[in-house]
Amino acid sequence: MSEEEPELIAATDIKRYHFCPRIIYFTRVLGVEERTTESEVEGREAHAEFHRKERRRTTLLGGKTIRVEQKWTALQLKSEKLGLEGIVDMVVKTPEGYAVVEYKMTTTPKRIMPDHLYQAAAYTMLVEEAFKTIVRKLYVYYEKSGRLIEIPMTESIRRHVLWTIGRIRSIIENEKLPPAKPSGKCKSCGYRWVCREA
Ligand code: SF4
Repeated sequence: MSEEEPELIAATDIKRYHFCPRIIYFTRVLGVEERTTESEVEGREAHAEFHRKERRRTTLLGGKTIRVEQKWTALQLKSEKLGLEGIVDMVVKTPEGYAVVEYKMTTTPKRIMPDHLYQAAAYTMLVEEAFKTIVRKLYVYYEKSGRLIEIPMTESIRRHVLWTIGRIRSIIENEKLPPAKPSGKCKSCGYRWVCREA
């Protein structure tokens, strides 16, 4: 890859950054892989099952309220302009316009987690560019609780995704490990073994 073509940032990097910026250093600078746990294997299978079911359905998640005119699952997109790439769980065209659905195997958290929000927003921006449209809503679907959370897509969310891409690029280019901020998240972090700070 030439210097004029910086590596694309993955939407999953946006999620990782918002979970903990140190993970970007471990994965993108050191090339460390997350330790695969049983729940991750379960998560991948559940994800594949979600895509399978959704290909057959004509409404959003089989619900009665949101009619879907067209649907794309596991859609691979990239944007040189945004410096971003990713595989979008689902894009739907409804009578109100396009929307993005991000699938999570977990139960609904008390409030939307920044890592889930900005990952879904990154996919939304990829969809906006690819479909030459403005996406006004994004959804996060929590499988264990069967809940679909609707979030309005705003300019400030878009700006924050761009800011995050810049922060990720800076960690990669400067090869600088962000300081540790141990928190409750460390318990479920798949990089704890390499972080050694929590
Ligand atoms: S163990 Fe904690 S501080 Fe270390 S990478 Fe994971 S979340 Fe970040």
